[in-house]
Amino acid sequence: MNRRPQRGHPHLTGRQRILSLDAESDHHRCVIRILGGGICFATATVPAGTPSTGLPELRQRFAAWHDPIPSLLTAADPDAVLHNDIYELPALKSYVKGRIALLGDTAHAMTPNLGQGACQALEDAAVPARVAAQDGDLTRYDAERRPRTQMIAARSNGIGRVAQLGSPLAVRLRDTALRLIPSAAQFKALAPVMDWQG
Ligand SMILES: Cc1cc2nc3c(=O)[nH]c(=O)nc-3n(C[C@H](O)[C@H](O)[C@H](O)COP(=O)(O)OP(=O)(O)OC[C@H]3O[C@@H](n4cnc5c(N)ncnc54)[C@H](O)[C@@H]3O)c2cc1C
Repeated sequence: MNRRPQRGHPHLTGRQRILSLDAESDHHRCVIRILGGGICFATATVPAGTPSTGLPELRQRFAAWHDPIPSLLTAADPDAVLHNDIYELPALKSYVKGRIALLGDTAHAMTPNLGQGACQALEDAAVPARVAAQDGDLTRYDAERRPRTQMIAARSNGIGRVAQLGSPLAVRLRDTALRLIPSAAQFKALAPVMDWQG
């Protein structure tokens, strides 16, 4: 769990301030980031298409979690809850056709396990301007962006598979392995994702 100090709790009206709170347990994840407006998202590992009752289900699933998750759910507006399954795009053969280039999720919608979907959309957006200033050949955009974004999408998918392991033995092995890997090595493994220079 990553948790920083919070202000404005429990009702978070007016100048709302929370900050950052990530928690994971037993195939559920809850992420809260609120600054002024506010958005929280929660995930549960269930088959796509599983019906949901919206806020009542969230309150029930997260009832036993630590403060402030249950109290925020108590205060939430049922009409403000959006429920979606998470899908990813299969790896496309090209992001470019003629003078049309796909950017962001249209090109590489990925699972959110690495927190990279919007980051990659921003990186995408920087490249066509550079290409336009050179010779306008959009295949350069495809050659530069497709391998990188598909590598990151594949990594994100892999992390999701490991994070969603169901067998207690596999979970114990995973958790032990993660504890044993030094954080420096974990950061190093992320370097290809984080070190884009544009
Ligand atoms: C739970 C979750 C957590 C995430 N966390 C992170 C994170 O921590 N970090 C990160 O980098 N990414 C994260 N992402 C991914 C990120 O939200 C997306 O990758 C990003 O929003 C993609 O940006 P986009 O502009 O390509 O598409 P979108 O954000 O989907 O924008 C497309 C826009 O086009 C509009 N639109 C669609 N059709 C039409 C039309 N016909 N006419 C006009 N407008 C239209 C849509 O309404 C939408 O506003 C997360 C995603 C999820 C689901």
